[in-house]
Amino acid sequence: MEKIYSTATFGPSGHDESFAQEGYISTLQMPQWLSDKGLELFEYSFGRGVRISDVTAEAIGDMADKFGVEMSVHAPYFINFASVEQDKADNSVRYLTDSLGALRHFHGSRCVFHTGAEGKQPRNEAFARAKDNFTKALDVIAQQGLDDLIVCPETMGKQAQIGTVDEVVELCKLGDNVYPCVDFGHVNSLWQGALKTKEDFQRIVDKLFDGLGEKKTKNMHVHFSKIQYGAKGEIRHLTFADTVYGPEFEPLAEVIVKNGLTPHILSESAGTQMFDARAMKAAYTAKLSK
Ligand SMILES: [Zn+2]
Repeated sequence: MEKIYSTATFGPSGHDESFAQEGYISTLQMPQWLSDKGLELFEYSFGRGVRISDVTAEAIGDMADKFGVEMSVHAPYFINFASVEQDKADNSVRYLTDSLGALRHFHGSRCVFHTGAEGKQPRNEAFARAKDNFTKALDVIAQQGLDDLIVCPETMGKQAQIGTVDEVVELCKLGDNVYPCVDFGHVNSLWQGALKTKEDFQRIVDKLFDGLGEKKTKNMHVHFSKIQYGAKGEIRHLTFADTVYGPEFEPLAEVIVKNGLTPHILSESAGTQMFDARAMKAAYTAKLSK
């Protein structure tokens, strides 16, 4: 079941470089390590496939419970609900249900996924196909009794990928268990660096409130990192040391506090996820106590 928090929560996506540098090896050690660092979330990536045994996932889930860390998962990157090849779209359903099965063993409640890419189709056709196949996926998820878990379509950073803020809002209307994952670094890449002021961030939050209402907006999933971009969008993830590309977290922290949001915020920085998650938590906490 989805845990309800009274504040925003923070953590890294994947293993931070300092985890190994401090001598740790296994994800089993991650919950205690994160709890010691003052963080409360961990996102486990199945980017290249759902390859974890039920027993291992269950053991990690037990540790997460013990140290008060909530697990989420990222479904395989090769999901493509917009594919014109029906077998690829059908396989995408399985990648999502496999991810949810593992998420259950982690005792978590949220699974992020990339909807797909337009390929050679016109955008509107690709999006209609994605909606269709994702609707079928939601039926299968319900049939398998996995619909108490939340699936989160992510806003994407490249023009050819399905996942503008508007498209994610539309996808989230397809089920009570579909919540938005807003990757602000992706949005900034797609907008060519136009995500700067708190008004820019508020504009996105307003779209979510208008389209999805209070519950899904307040409890949205967030990916945050600075990202290098080019004319077609995202190029690569950076760290908070970057001063060129952005976006900055400060204005978002202000918007989160002003709107009373309680999002789950994961750092996807390149190697410094734990430090950058802590930096975001510190910035947010400072605004909260003002
Ligand atoms: Zn992602």
